[in-house]
Amino acid sequence: MLTLLKNARVYAPEPLGCQDILIVGGKIGKIAPRIDINQSFLALETVDLAGKLAVPGFIDPHVHLTGGGGEAGFYSRVPEIMLSGIISAGITTVVGVLGTDGTTRHLESLLAKARGLETEGVTTYMYTGSYELPPVTITGSVRRDIIIVDKVIGVGEIAVSDHRSSEPTVQELKRLATEARLGGMLSGKPGIAHFHMGNGREGLGKIVEAIATSEIPIRHFYPTHVNRKRELLDEAGEFAKRGGYIDITAGVSPLTGFAGAIKPSKAVIECLDRGVPLSRLTMSSDGNGSMAVYNEAGKVEKLLVTTLDSIPAEFRDLVLADGLAIEKALYTVTTNAAALLGLYPVKGALAAGSDADIAVLDDKLVLDMVFAKGVKMMENGRVIKKGTFE
Ligand code: ZN
Repeated sequence: MLTLLKNARVYAPEPLGCQDILIVGGKIGKIAPRIDINQSFLALETVDLAGKLAVPGFIDPHVHLTGGGGEAGFYSRVPEIMLSGIISAGITTVVGVLGTDGTTRHLESLLAKARGLETEGVTTYMYTGSYELPPVTITGSVRRDIIIVDKVIGVGEIAVSDHRSSEPTVQELKRLATEARLGGMLSGKPGIAHFHMGNGREGLGKIVEAIATSEIPIRHFYPTHVNRKRELLDEAGEFAKRGGYIDITAGVSPLTGFAGAIKPSKAVIECLDRGVPLSRLTMSSDGNGSMAVYNEAGKVEKLLVTTLDSIPAEFRDLVLADGLAIEKALYTVTTNAAALLGLYPVKGALAAGSDADIAVLDDKLVLDMVFAKGVKMMENGRVIKKGTFE
């Protein structure tokens, strides 16, 4: 099966101007100003994308695939995500995390969910572990999980500087990152230790100390939610200037009820203004977790599920409201995460040989079509490939 996308304004993410893209099976076969194919002996679908943009499918490196939450009791456990919840946000690659609850939620379920979603059409990876230390694992050790389990690319999200954490020591953080690094080395994976940064006073302190007093390269430490408060974003900026990757949570914003947070698109702009290399900034949704709305007495009044839509929304704001060039904004939601995860340029790029993960946007940067590994998943802004049970 061949699909020929004609006349797209291609951002690879670098702007390539008006191009045709030939999709062969799940891969991009060729990108050229004009591709003509004799249709008489091939099954070929041609799609005219005149006036539209083709960009790499978004990569979301932090999603609660089996549901997050549960922090207001059992009734508040968020259900599993469905395929359309991923596709509707233009996302074609996700990394699953367990989250707060490492007791009633299990890594085996997360692995099964990741495999199921892969069968349904998107690309999936996962972290072993949950918030706590010692980490929950599948095989008994972080290192073994990374080496033995195909989808496991690191450990996380381990909670740091948070009232829900295990109050990890510097020594424990070093041990954890070493396990991740060694597992990664032996299996050809990135071997990342991914840290949930809470609202605590400690901030990145222990992580910075773990790096300063060990031989572990900074790229293995990957903190998220760094835009949740001013002090943390300042610290994270310095961390990234020293070569670390930092993850801005697109779902954490004053507009979504997080007082004290920095709006994600503004956080990106601020980091860039302060000299943080663009290549070190990623954005994730923290999607399919729960968000509690509290009443004046401090009781949970309403529970909401966080969606993945914050990724395309913040990308759009970056370009249309904050004036960042499209290609630069794309790095934060595609290429940088692919590089961190060791997937670039198979993911996070539009080039011959890359996976055919393509988001098509209209001139207002609104999603119009999505291809995941060459299969059309969204058309005219509507998800056309649904999950098995939706
Ligand atoms: Zn978290």
